[in-house]
Amino acid sequence: MPSSSSSAGEKTAKNAAPPLPEPLRVPVADSHTHLDMQAGTVEEGLAKAASVGVTTVVQVGCDVRGSRWAAETAALYDAVHATVALHPNEAPRIVHGDPDGWSRQGARQPGGAQALDEALAEIERLAALPQVKGVGETGLDHFRTGPEGKEAQESSFRAHIEIAKRHGKALVIHDRDAHADVLRVLKEEGAPERTVFHCYSGDAEMAEICARAGYFMSFAGNVTFKNAQNLRDAVAVAPLELLLVETDAPFLTPAPYRGRPNAPYLIPVTVRAMAAVRGIDEDALATALASNTARAFGY
Ligand SMILES: [Zn+2]
Ligand SMILES: [Zn+2]
Repeated sequence: MPSSSSSAGEKTAKNAAPPLPEPLRVPVADSHTHLDMQAGTVEEGLAKAASVGVTTVVQVGCDVRGSRWAAETAALYDAVHATVALHPNEAPRIVHGDPDGWSRQGARQPGGAQALDEALAEIERLAALPQVKGVGETGLDHFRTGPEGKEAQESSFRAHIEIAKRHGKALVIHDRDAHADVLRVLKEEGAPERTVFHCYSGDAEMAEICARAGYFMSFAGNVTFKNAQNLRDAVAVAPLELLLVETDAPFLTPAPYRGRPNAPYLIPVTVRAMAAVRGIDEDALATALASNTARAFGY
């Protein structure tokens, strides 16, 4: 029944997984993903990604439970490396409690500074594991956390920087509407040897500051969005050897699939957009991205 099935088909297509892009000829890594928030099994996600040349993923933890899962998953699969942390919006919730918390565990009792210390101790224990290659995502988020959570957020960020340095791991930064403060705290604490700005959201001017400091800049699917010229300007000026690519899946699905579920297999769409911005060959960019990600995370 072509007429009825076509209208039903359109409805499904809106939320349906985007089609497989043409495979990359040079394999790359998704430098930041959340497999635990995506549909399907880990095996399915990894197989689908590998089928288009995305052969490695960095699985990022956002709370204690998610960080344990990231470490366990990285121990099971060679293609997965883990990072562990309390997300910048998670730290204030541990201290003050928040019924709309990130953790999806429902209402939570405020735990005070001691609860934050206990959670950080568990992050530190996980950070020492060999399959855990980074500490993050940590940083500052002035968009979702209000002034009441600022202090807990910043002290948690500082603690994560120390953990990364103590264990010689990469630091993965989440910076939302907080560029100047993130750069300030990094300067005050002294950044670890390898620091990655995940879902880079600054402009070309900030990219030059990051380049001078040797910070990696990881670009997500939003680099393809019409209103994101600042991100394309940053891609254009960032040194090739500091560029990474990520999905941050299930979020930030690249155009033309915006709004549909994101997953590591869509990395080629973003790689091609970045190659077009820089006016370089896709294979050359993929070669750089692959070696940059390995260098950033030390695998
Ligand atoms: Zn983030
Ligand atoms: Zn993330």
